[in-house]
Amino acid sequence: MVKVMFNKQIFKKQQLKFMLYNLLAFTVIFTVFSIIILGQVQNTLFSKTDGELWSFKEMITDTNPKMLPLPPKGGDLNQPNDVRQKNKPNPRMIVIHWDRGGNILNKDEVGTTFYENYLVDYKLDTTHIDKITTTKISELYQFRYILFEDRDEQNETAYTQLMINVDAEQTIISNFEKLIIICSAIFIVLSISASYLLSRKMMKPIILSWNKQAEFVENASHELRTPLTIIQNKLELLLTAPQDKISDRFENIAQSLSETRRLSKLTSDLLTLARADSAETQIVKQSIDVDTFIQKVCTPYKEIAESQEKHFSLECKTPLTIEADDTRLHQLLVILLDNALKYTGENDSIRVKTYVEDQKVVIEVSDTGIGIKEESIPHIFDRFYREDKARTRETGGMGLGLSIAQWIASIHDGTIHVRSNQHKGTVFKVKLPK
Ligand code: ADP
Repeated sequence: MVKVMFNKQIFKKQQLKFMLYNLLAFTVIFTVFSIIILGQVQNTLFSKTDGELWSFKEMITDTNPKMLPLPPKGGDLNQPNDVRQKNKPNPRMIVIHWDRGGNILNKDEVGTTFYENYLVDYKLDTTHIDKITTTKISELYQFRYILFEDRDEQNETAYTQLMINVDAEQTIISNFEKLIIICSAIFIVLSISASYLLSRKMMKPIILSWNKQAEFVENASHELRTPLTIIQNKLELLLTAPQDKISDRFENIAQSLSETRRLSKLTSDLLTLARADSAETQIVKQSIDVDTFIQKVCTPYKEIAESQEKHFSLECKTPLTIEADDTRLHQLLVILLDNALKYTGENDSIRVKTYVEDQKVVIEVSDTGIGIKEESIPHIFDRFYREDKARTRETGGMGLGLSIAQWIASIHDGTIHVRSNQHKGTVFKVKLPK
């Protein structure tokens, strides 16, 4: 119970970590995205105004016609239409000529109303010469302007300032900023829920494999403990009668030996599965002639079957070759044949058959033995799963064989399936790519 609680705490902590990482990733992506879009909107909106300021400044400094340098009405009619358009200043453009003392020289051209309302208190600021700058007039109206030195001794002009009102652009930007703030708030709520759901999804396979691993270790320890206890008891028993002859204690010794063999098989199976989990085992594929290979593997099993009064038949009609690791394929067949022998009785039949189905090579091992219950079929490939623990202990089974068989099929990009035999017994079907 304490262990489960502890695990739950670890999982909760990990899930929280995943959630925070997801949230952080979402936030960074959204912030970068917003900054880029906002910057782009700002740039696009102001670039037209700024371009107009620069080109009008160039026009003034090139031709230098002082005081309101407007080109002739409608432009020079001899010039092409687009050039005439270009030379026309933006009607929003305000041109101010300053003298050295910071007085506005062209009050009339600026417009008396505009001057009296807004420019009376406006001071010459020479800190940003030749740079486009943003300023506010009367703390209300926003302008983009460029101020440049424009000396003209005749009418005392020292600086010329070109200004364009950008309130419309500013409104768009501030509306956009508001929109981004609203979107951020919605986004935060959405991303918290998304992060939570994602972290739960991410934790699911981790919890599953953690639990599987814990169960595996527990089962393995349990399986290891049983033979060890038996061996220990038998040896202790032997020690109580040191004068006895071996023949008197034959049964004890034989049992210890059988348990040692069991232990050795168990550890090698566990090692195979541990290596399978860590993806450490590499397979060396080579071209294998299926029929010859199967005949070789089956020969001793045929003899054992016959000695146990069982019928053993082999049906390999078509010559087939596959690319496979022969040691692993041998191991897979041995597992299936061992089981077929273990779970059949006298007069039962075992049949090994090969054929091609859906462009794949099929190796089928069927028997007319005790069969597998329908409800056990989904669990048959689980580690340590045995239908009848007491009986399989007698036959030496530990429930690891079919998990290993399934792993071998999968590392060959193949599959293994089980179904009940039509009348009696079981059919194992291994499908491997050619
Ligand atoms: P075991 O070493 O116990 O045989 P396996 O993983 O090879 O472990 O098999 C798991 C279980 O599947 C067995 O305990 C048995 O109940 C069932 N099983 C496997 N092969 C057969 C078969 N040919 N006939 C009936 N039952 C089988």
